[in-house]
Amino acid sequence: MKKQVVLYKKLSPLLMARLHEQTEVTLIDSLDAEGLAKMREALPKAQGLLGASLKLDAALLDLAPDLEAIASVSVGVDNYDIDYLTERRILLSNTPDVLTETTADTGFALILASARRVVELANMVRAGHWKRNVGPAQFGTDVHGKTLGIIGMGRIGEALAQRGHFGFGMPVVYHSHSPKPAVEQRFNAQYRSLPQLLQEADFVCLTLPLTAETEGLIGAEQFALMGPETIFINISRGKVVDEVALIDALRKGQIRAAGLDVFEREPLDSASPLLRLDNVVATPHIGSATHETREAMAKCAVDNLLMALAGERPVNLVNGLAWKG
Ligand code: NAP
Repeated sequence: MKKQVVLYKKLSPLLMARLHEQTEVTLIDSLDAEGLAKMREALPKAQGLLGASLKLDAALLDLAPDLEAIASVSVGVDNYDIDYLTERRILLSNTPDVLTETTADTGFALILASARRVVELANMVRAGHWKRNVGPAQFGTDVHGKTLGIIGMGRIGEALAQRGHFGFGMPVVYHSHSPKPAVEQRFNAQYRSLPQLLQEADFVCLTLPLTAETEGLIGAEQFALMGPETIFINISRGKVVDEVALIDALRKGQIRAAGLDVFEREPLDSASPLLRLDNVVATPHIGSATHETREAMAKCAVDNLLMALAGERPVNLVNGLAWKG
């Protein structure tokens, strides 16, 4: 008998066909109240789950006593209670690597847009307010040659360092749990404590996961260490930053600008003070959002799920302790 899968992410026809071939699929079209009710109905029979952008807590997963595997279409796994899944021996997989370069591209788009005021000035042109040559009041600041600070030197951090070092001649400083000798050699990068990095970098970029340890890592105390020329970039998760402290730092001119792809609450409230600040570039969590990368992520998730449901160890298993071998 085919295994039951609850799918809460739309897939391409090709991937959908693969999943249908090997499993019985219940598709949840959208994660509104109706969709969630449909999901609750399907969970009691489900062996597999595939999707993203939904907090799967114990209250929901307790409805699925036969659940064997969850394939998340994301690299970040902050939507899952890993201890709970491991205790229930539910295999959680994610989609690393395939989104690394695209997410680093997004990081660099935010660096360039914030420094050169691309969105603000493009809006000025669009509004018909370009009447004379721009002057110092509209000038931006250089990116090339400035110091790139990376907090979380993992896959995406490294791809950002590569762009900064080779593409823009930027000295790279970074902070992580531990020094990375290979990265230091490749990009001439230098390890710093967090306070040192915040004081030294022209661009402070967050590329670490949201965990109990990183939640609220950057708050008022950390913004106070940055300078009035610092540009703050967040492509990790919104909750790593105290957003009230960020807004305060931007308003006070404690930092120059911010490029933000992620927010404490998403979608960002249209009343957010962040949207009233000209020195903020805000994008709607598009780190990995290209046709090619989203398809590669979905394929990776389908592969992981089908492996798990076939009794094989998924390539991107997150909770290795749940594997029975
Ligand atoms: P990764 O390879 O695991 O890298 C994360 C790095 O963060 C690791 O090198 C780790 O350092 C470091 N780190 C973790 N906790 C830390 C802490 N408390 N202090 C300092 N460094 C810490 O992950 P990745 O593939 O680069 O992805 C990183 C995150 O980006 C994901 O978890 C996700 O939340 C986010 N992301 C966002 C988007 C988007 O759409 N905006 C897209 C993709 C990913 P050590 O190696 O020293 O332990």
